[in-house]
Amino acid sequence: MTEKDLWDEIPYMGYIALGRRGMEKIELTQCFIPGCENKNIEKLKPIKKEETEDEVKLVQTYSIHCEECNKTFKLSFETLKKVARKKKRSIDENNDDQNEILSMGVIYVFDDNGKKMHLGFF
Ligand SMILES: [Zn+2]
Repeated sequence: MTEKDLWDEIPYMGYIALGRRGMEKIELTQCFIPGCENKNIEKLKPIKKEETEDEVKLVQTYSIHCEECNKTFKLSFETLKKVARKKKRSIDENNDDQNEILSMGVIYVFDDNGKKMHLGFF
């Protein structure tokens, strides 16, 4: 699989918690290494994809090497196949009979030491 193919399957936008400003919609085609402001996709090379899947979730992790700061970070996408509804009584009682299956995606960003830097959603 070539680099271009990998970028094609990585979500382009996501909602990431950055500092204290809450969730922000940002482009994921940027370097997440602190201090590096590289947003040039030509200098961001996806070098590895790891994928695990079970009944509950699909996890796709991309290692991306930044040619600007010469470090590698990881973008990890967890797609939860079923999100259990809370047992708490819902405010809207009319929804109780609905057994809807929701799917949702969680993004984790790790630095080159595997330390979690950001958490977000896509
Ligand atoms: Zn960088």
